[in-house]
Amino acid sequence: MTAFRCVAIPTEIAERFRRTGLDDRGQPVHRRVVDGPGFPCRHCLRLGEPGEVMLLASYDLPHPQGVYWTPSPIFLHERSCQRFEAANEIAPIVLANGIVSVRSYDAEEMCLYDLGGVANGPESAPLLERALADPRVRYINIHTARPGCLLTAVEKL
Ligand SMILES: [Zn+2]
Repeated sequence: MTAFRCVAIPTEIAERFRRTGLDDRGQPVHRRVVDGPGFPCRHCLRLGEPGEVMLLASYDLPHPQGVYWTPSPIFLHERSCQRFEAANEIAPIVLANGIVSVRSYDAEEMCLYDLGGVANGPESAPLLERALADPRVRYINIHTARPGCLLTAVEKL
């Protein structure tokens, strides 16, 4: 497998959401208590545990820019958590998701439709490897396939 890293949202942004209570749209963040699966933190890239408080906020994705740019709803631990930094490990929140969408973009931030695909989270490695191995690919984002929320960006190392 091509060397890669799942790129969580920057710590400065997580801390800003926690400190100000406002998201990237200037809207108040929502608070949710974890009562089941489906609360993936985009900073530590782990699922919220039952009883933990999560923030729900709108995040402006750094890539792609241009016509494919989009904001995304994200969950984030309300408490401080450690940013995911591991190399060559698919993020736990991707592996835990029922169905994910792998989206690839080139250096001009245009979508490479031929590389797009959906897979069950635990079976997403081949789709990711196909994207990582393609020399056109500069940016990769993995989203939940049903609501379409960003789970994590992925970078080639
Ligand atoms: Zn977290």
